[in-house]
Amino acid sequence: MKILSFSLEDGKAAGVFVMHPRFIFLKNFVIIYIENEMKERADCMSGYRLARTYEEMGFKVIEDSVKVENGKKYANAKAVCWKCMGKGKLAHFANIEYGICFACGGNGYEFKKHCRVYTDTEREKMDAAAIAKKEREIAKKKAGAAEKIASWLQKYNITDGCIYIVAGCNTYEMKDQLKELGAKFYNGVNWFFGKDTVPTEDLGHGAFIYRYNINDLFYWNDFGGGPYYIDGAIENLRQSIKDHIADINRNASKSEYVGEIGERLRNMDATFVSAKFFEGNWGGSFVYTFKVDENIFTWFTQKVLDYEPEDKINLTGTVKAHTEYNGVLQTQLSRCIIK
Ligand SMILES: [Zn+2]
Repeated sequence: MKILSFSLEDGKAAGVFVMHPRFIFLKNFVIIYIENEMKERADCMSGYRLARTYEEMGFKVIEDSVKVENGKKYANAKAVCWKCMGKGKLAHFANIEYGICFACGGNGYEFKKHCRVYTDTEREKMDAAAIAKKEREIAKKKAGAAEKIASWLQKYNITDGCIYIVAGCNTYEMKDQLKELGAKFYNGVNWFFGKDTVPTEDLGHGAFIYRYNINDLFYWNDFGGGPYYIDGAIENLRQSIKDHIADINRNASKSEYVGEIGERLRNMDATFVSAKFFEGNWGGSFVYTFKVDENIFTWFTQKVLDYEPEDKINLTGTVKAHTEYNGVLQTQLSRCIIK
C-alpha cells in the first residue's frame, strides 16, 4: 500500500491500522486524514523558509516536521554542527569521551524546535520589507550628516575650516591656561583654537600658534560619523610643525660651526645651556649643550655632570661633527674636559 511510504508519524500509524484486518473499517477515515497530511506535505516540499537569522546560521527546515497552529506554520530545523562539520566526532579529541563531538553530542547536527516557517512568497515580502526599512534608515542618517558635522565644528569653534594648533611647547603643562582661554582638545592634534578664539597675547612657554586646514587632517563618513584622521595626516602635521620650528630657529639663531673635524678646541669660555637624558641602545646617555659666544656645542656622553643652566665653565673638546638640529647649527664635541 502506498500509504506505508509516508514517514509522517500519523501516516505510519495509519499504515498499521490499514494493514491490520481488524481495523479495516478505519481505512476511509485514515485515508482522509492522510490526504490532509499530504496536502500539508506538498506545501512543505514546495519550499518553506525559516526566518533570515536562522537561515544565516545555516539552519534548514526538516521538511516532514511542518505543522500549522492557529494559521501559522512551524517546523523543526537543523544545521550541520559548527564544531565537527557534521562528522559527529572530533579527531583531535579522540582521547576524551571517544572523541564524540561535545557541541552536537555526536549526531552531527544542531536542532531547533518549533521555528516559524514561511513560504517563499512570504519570505520575499519580509526580505523586501527589511531591505526597504534599512534603506529608509540609511537615507535618514545621510540626511542628518551635514548637521552632525556642523555641530561638531561648532563645538570646537571651527569657523573657517582651519584649526589654530598650540605648538612648540609642552601643552600638558599649560592645559589649565589653554582651557581658560577657550582652547579645545582633540586627541591627535591636541590643543587648538578656532579662528575667533585665537588669543592675541603671547602664550609664553615658547608656544606659537600653527594654522592647519582640517581637510588635510579629517574626514567624516556618509552618516556624519567622525571626524577620523586621514592616513598619515598626524605624521604630516608633526613634520610640518617641526619644519616650521626649524625655520624659526634658523632665522633666530646666530650659531655657526666651529673648528675642523678632529680639531681639539681648548679652554673655551662657555655657558652651560642644558642637559637631556635619553635611553640609548646601550643604556642611558646625556646630551649636554653649551654655548660659546653665539655658537652651540653638544656632547653626547654617559658621564653625569653637575651644572645648572647659565653656569660658566671652561670647555675643552674635539670636534666630532657639524650638525643641524631644529634649524640650529651645532658643533658636536667628543672627549670633553670641563672645568
Ligand atoms: Zn558536532
